Amino acid sequence: MSTRTASCSCGQLRVEVRGEPLGVGVCHCLACQRRTGSVFAALATFATPYTMAGTAAEYFRAGDQGSRFQFRFCPVCGTTVFHSEEGQEATVSVAVGAFADPSFPAPKVSIYDCRRHPWVVLPSGTKAFDTDPA
Ligand SMILES: [Zn+2]
Ligand SMILES: [Zn+2]
Repeated sequence: MSTRTASCSCGQLRVEVRGEPLGVGVCHCLACQRRTGSVFAALATFATPYTMAGTAAEYFRAGDQGSRFQFRFCPVCGTTVFHSEEGQEATVSVAVGAFADPSFPAPKVSIYDCRRHPWVVLPSGTKAFDTDPA
């Protein structure tokens, strides 16, 4: 089974995931905009288990629909590398940019599309949702 490794900017925190992503999406919500410092987050969901190396700091945030998300970021350089949703132990979401792989599969869904900066153009065929359909 193929593996991929995502890493923070300084390389201290790494996560290795197995197999192909179950889904790839972009999120335009304002929390992701602030979290990433970018105007949207690109996320890939993988089946667990995953292997983490290094030290992660944690930040919990409640989603609009009451779920709690546990974000893991590097305490040295601040990059958010991955997150999981409480009670959803079967999957982990990894920041696509942390793979530093321009050939990574393109997103298929766009969530919180109502918050999308109007100059951000989605790949054709992307399914857009005004909020999080999950
Ligand atoms: Zn780092
Ligand atoms: Zn978001």
